[in-house]
Amino acid sequence: MTSSADYPALDCVYQPDSGGFFGEYGGIYVGETLMSPLAEVKAAALEALSDKTFWDEYRYLLEHYVGRPSPIYFAKRLSQQLSSVRVYLKREDLNHTGAHKVNNTVGQALLAKRMGKKRVIAETGAGQHGVATATVAALFGLECKVFMGSEDIRRQQPNVQRMKLLGAEVVPVNSGTSTLKDAMSEALRYWSEVADSTFYVVGTVAGPDPYPYMVREFQKIIGEESRNQMLTITGKLPDCVIAAVGGGSNAIGIFYPFLEDKEVELVGVEAAGKGLETGEHCASLTLGTIGVLHGTKTKLLQDKHGQIHEAYSISAGLDYPGVGPEHAYLKDIGRIRIETITDKEALEAFHLLCKYEGIIPALESSHALAQVTKEAGGFSPRSRNVLVCLSGRGDKDLQHVLDYESQSACMFAGGPSTA
Ligand SMILES: *Cc1c(COP(=O)(O)O)cnc(C)c1O
Repeated sequence: MTSSADYPALDCVYQPDSGGFFGEYGGIYVGETLMSPLAEVKAAALEALSDKTFWDEYRYLLEHYVGRPSPIYFAKRLSQQLSSVRVYLKREDLNHTGAHKVNNTVGQALLAKRMGKKRVIAETGAGQHGVATATVAALFGLECKVFMGSEDIRRQQPNVQRMKLLGAEVVPVNSGTSTLKDAMSEALRYWSEVADSTFYVVGTVAGPDPYPYMVREFQKIIGEESRNQMLTITGKLPDCVIAAVGGGSNAIGIFYPFLEDKEVELVGVEAAGKGLETGEHCASLTLGTIGVLHGTKTKLLQDKHGQIHEAYSISAGLDYPGVGPEHAYLKDIGRIRIETITDKEALEAFHLLCKYEGIIPALESSHALAQVTKEAGGFSPRSRNVLVCLSGRGDKDLQHVLDYESQSACMFAGGPSTA
C-alpha cells in the first residue's frame, strides 16, 4: 500500500496531485504513526469512490435518510427588497440534522463500514459535526467518540445532549484554549493509537490528505444538484454563487461543479467577527499566512513564531483558525473571490431572512446572505441571479442571538461610562 496513489485524472486542473497538494497547499504533515492509517484511508477511499455500488448506497441514503435533493427556493420577497438581484437559496437547512454536514458523515461512515472499522471518532467545535457523526454512527451501529474542547462543551450544551442521546461519548479536551483546534489535535493524536479499529471522520475539507479531497467528493452533491436545478428553474447558470467559509466544506461543495464555468463568479465569505482591525475574527484566507495546522499546509491565523491565534466569530461553526487547502489554492489562482462579513452584518441578514421569507438561517449561512445584501446595489443596472448556499438552519443559534442582542442593547443603554 502506498500513500502516493494517484487521484483519478480529471479533465480540469482542480485535482490534487499524488501527494495531496493543491498547488503549494495540502499534503500530509503528520508524525510517523499516522502515515500508515492515512495511507489505508486513502487507498480505501480511492477504491470506494470509483465503485458504483458505493455511490449507489451513498445516494440511496442521501435520498431516503437525509432527504435529498434539497430544493432551490427563489427568495422573492427578499429579492424585492434588494435592487437588481434575484436570490436563490440552496436549502441545505432542510437536510436531516439541519445542515450540509451530514452529506459528508454519511459518506465517511459508509467508508468506515466498508473498511471493517467498528468505531468512529470525530472532532467538533460548535457540535454540529459531532451530532452529524453521532447520527450516522447510530445509523450504522458504530461506536462513536467525539472530541470537544471543554470550553465548547460549556457553550454548546444542547448539542452535547444530542450527541449523548444518540449514543456517542463526548470526550472533553482541556489543552490549549479548550476549543475546536485543540479537539482536532487531540482526535488526531488519539487516532494514531487506535487506527486499527477506528475510522476518523473529519468534519470539513481540512486535515491531511486524503481528507480535503474526500470531503469535497462527499459535499460536491450540493453543487451538482444546484447546477441542474438552476438550469431547470432559470434556464441558465447562476451569475454568482456565494457561500460561507469556515473550514470550507459547504463552499467547496457548492463551488466545485461550477469551477469550469468561468462565467459563474464564485464568492466565499469569511467571518470578520468584531472587525478585521480588532484581531477578533476568523478570516484566514484574507489575513492568514502559510503554515501547517492539523496535518495540512494552508493559510492560517498565526503570529510570526507560528503560534496559532484564537479564531473568533459570533458563529461557532466558522471559528477555525485555518481553512481547507483547496480554497487557498483557488483564491491564489483567482478562481474564487473572498470577502468578509462582521458579526453585526451577519445578524442583520439573519433577521432579513426571518422577516421576509419565514426562514431562520444558521449564523454561518447568514454571512453568505449578508454578502448578497452588501453587493446588491453594485449589481445594477444588470439584474443578476445569485445562488446562496443556505448551509444550515438557525434553531441552534436562537439563544445565542437573543443573548448577543440583549447584551448589545445593555451596552447601548448603559453607554461607555458604565463599562
Ligand atoms: C459547520 C458549518 C459551517 C462551516 O463549515 P464549512 O466546512 O466551512 O462548511 C457552515 N454552515 C453551517 C450551518 C455549519 O454547521
